[in-house]
Amino acid sequence: MTPWTARCERCPAGERFLAERPARRWAETHARHARHAVSLEAPSGDSAVVSPGDEADRS
Ligand SMILES: [Zn+2]
Repeated sequence: MTPWTARCERCPAGERFLAERPARRWAETHARHARHAVSLEAPSGDSAVVSPGDEADRS
């Protein structure tokens, strides 16, 4: 099975996940905490970038 891959574009951090939800969560958390853009690669080959400013701060 091809995993989802979250890979930071600014540091060596990265993880593989079996589902989109935890991968996206990791990407958003790292982007927000480290202020790094994180690329999110789907099993289909599609990729997206989660930017530090994408998440609205709803606190
Ligand atoms: Zn990073």
